[in-house]
Amino acid sequence: MLEILIAVWSPSTTWDELVEMCGRLTGLRTDLRQSRGIQAPLMKCSKCGSVSRGDIKGVSVRSALFALRKAGAISDTDFQRLDHDWKKHRAVRGLDALGMKNDASSATTTSDPSVCC
Ligand SMILES: [Zn+2]
Repeated sequence: MLEILIAVWSPSTTWDELVEMCGRLTGLRTDLRQSRGIQAPLMKCSKCGSVSRGDIKGVSVRSALFALRKAGAISDTDFQRLDHDWKKHRAVRGLDALGMKNDASSATTTSDPSVCC
Protein backbone atom coordinates (compact mmCIF):
# COMPACT_ATOMS: atom_id res chain seq x y z
CA MET A 1 0.00 0.00 0.00
CA LEU A 2 2.78 2.36 1.00
CA GLU A 3 4.65 1.43 -2.17
CA ILE A 4 1.91 3.11 -4.21
CA LEU A 5 2.28 6.31 -2.26
CA ILE A 6 6.07 6.33 -2.63
CA ALA A 7 5.85 5.49 -6.33
CA VAL A 8 3.38 8.31 -6.98
CA TRP A 9 5.01 10.90 -4.75
CA SER A 10 7.26 13.53 -6.32
CA PRO A 11 8.33 16.98 -5.07
CA SER A 12 5.88 18.50 -7.58
CA THR A 13 2.89 16.58 -6.19
CA THR A 14 0.16 19.06 -5.29
CA TRP A 15 -1.89 18.90 -2.11
CA ASP A 16 -4.96 18.07 -4.20
CA GLU A 17 -3.14 15.08 -5.67
CA LEU A 18 -1.94 13.96 -2.27
CA VAL A 19 -5.46 14.27 -0.82
CA GLU A 20 -6.79 12.15 -3.69
CA MET A 21 -4.03 9.61 -3.07
CA CYS A 22 -4.93 9.41 0.61
CA GLY A 23 -8.54 8.78 -0.37
CA ARG A 24 -7.45 5.90 -2.59
CA LEU A 25 -5.27 4.45 0.17
CA THR A 26 -8.19 4.68 2.60
CA GLY A 27 -10.33 2.72 0.12
CA LEU A 28 -7.63 0.10 -0.34
CA ARG A 29 -7.19 -0.31 3.38
CA THR A 30 -10.94 -0.68 3.91
CA ASP A 31 -11.10 -3.36 1.19
CA LEU A 32 -8.12 -5.16 2.71
CA ARG A 33 -9.68 -5.20 6.15
CA GLN A 34 -13.01 -6.41 4.82
CA SER A 35 -11.46 -9.20 2.76
CA ARG A 36 -9.49 -10.39 5.81
CA GLY A 37 -12.39 -9.92 8.20
CA ILE A 38 -10.48 -7.43 10.35
CA GLN A 39 -12.85 -5.39 12.48
CA ALA A 40 -12.43 -1.80 13.50
CA PRO A 41 -10.53 -1.39 16.76
CA LEU A 42 -12.46 -1.18 20.01
CA MET A 43 -12.78 2.36 21.26
CA LYS A 44 -13.52 3.44 24.80
CA CYS A 45 -15.54 6.61 25.02
CA SER A 46 -13.54 9.19 26.96
CA LYS A 47 -16.74 10.71 28.34
CA CYS A 48 -19.05 7.87 29.41
CA GLY A 49 -16.60 4.95 29.30
CA SER A 50 -18.70 2.69 27.07
CA VAL A 51 -16.79 0.50 24.62
CA SER A 52 -17.76 0.29 20.96
CA ARG A 53 -16.17 -0.38 17.61
CA GLY A 54 -14.85 2.88 16.28
CA ASP A 55 -14.90 3.80 12.67
CA ILE A 56 -11.76 3.04 10.77
CA LYS A 57 -10.22 6.40 10.20
CA GLY A 58 -9.09 7.47 6.80
CA VAL A 59 -5.46 7.86 5.82
CA SER A 60 -4.72 11.48 6.70
CA VAL A 61 -2.40 13.66 4.66
CA ARG A 62 -0.16 14.04 7.68
CA SER A 63 0.15 10.27 8.14
CA ALA A 64 1.10 10.05 4.45
CA LEU A 65 3.87 12.60 5.08
CA PHE A 66 5.06 10.58 8.08
CA ALA A 67 5.08 7.45 5.91
CA LEU A 68 7.08 9.18 3.18
CA ARG A 69 9.65 10.34 5.71
CA LYS A 70 9.89 6.90 7.28
CA ALA A 71 10.44 5.37 3.85
CA GLY A 72 13.17 7.90 3.09
CA ALA A 73 11.21 9.40 0.18
CA ILE A 74 11.50 12.82 1.81
CA SER A 75 14.14 14.20 4.18
CA ASP A 76 13.46 15.49 7.69
CA THR A 77 13.82 19.03 6.35
CA ASP A 78 11.30 18.34 3.56
CA PHE A 79 8.96 16.78 6.06
CA GLN A 80 9.06 19.81 8.36
CA ARG A 81 8.46 22.18 5.44
CA LEU A 82 5.61 20.05 4.03
CA ASP A 83 4.02 19.57 7.43
CA HIS A 84 4.10 23.33 7.93
CA ASP A 85 2.76 24.01 4.41
CA TRP A 86 -0.03 21.49 4.89
CA LYS A 87 -1.14 23.16 8.12
CA LYS A 88 -1.29 26.50 6.32
CA HIS A 89 -3.06 25.00 3.29
CA ARG A 90 -5.65 23.36 5.58
CA ALA A 91 -6.27 26.57 7.53
CA VAL A 92 -6.68 28.68 4.39
CA ARG A 93 -9.10 26.27 2.73
CA GLY A 94 -10.88 24.99 5.83
CA LEU A 95 -9.96 21.35 5.29
CA ASP A 96 -9.99 18.47 7.76
CA ALA A 97 -7.11 16.04 8.35
CA LEU A 98 -8.14 14.03 5.29
CA GLY A 99 -8.18 17.13 3.12
CA MET A 100 -11.98 17.26 2.88
CA LYS A 101 -13.94 20.48 3.14
CA ASN A 102 -14.74 20.93 6.78
CA ASP A 103 -17.93 22.95 6.62
CA ALA A 104 -20.01 24.02 9.59
CA SER A 105 -22.53 21.17 9.24
CA SER A 106 -19.93 18.44 9.75
CA ALA A 107 -17.92 20.31 12.37
CA THR A 108 -19.96 18.91 15.25
CA THR A 109 -19.64 15.26 14.19
CA THR A 110 -15.89 15.46 13.63
CA SER A 111 -15.09 17.36 16.84
CA ASP A 112 -14.03 14.39 19.00
CA PRO A 113 -14.13 10.85 17.54
CA SER A 114 -13.39 9.27 20.95
CA VAL A 115 -16.67 10.49 22.45
CA CYS A 116 -19.85 8.56 21.58
CA CYS A 117 -22.40 10.56 23.49
ZN1 LIG B 1 -20.01 8.02 25.34
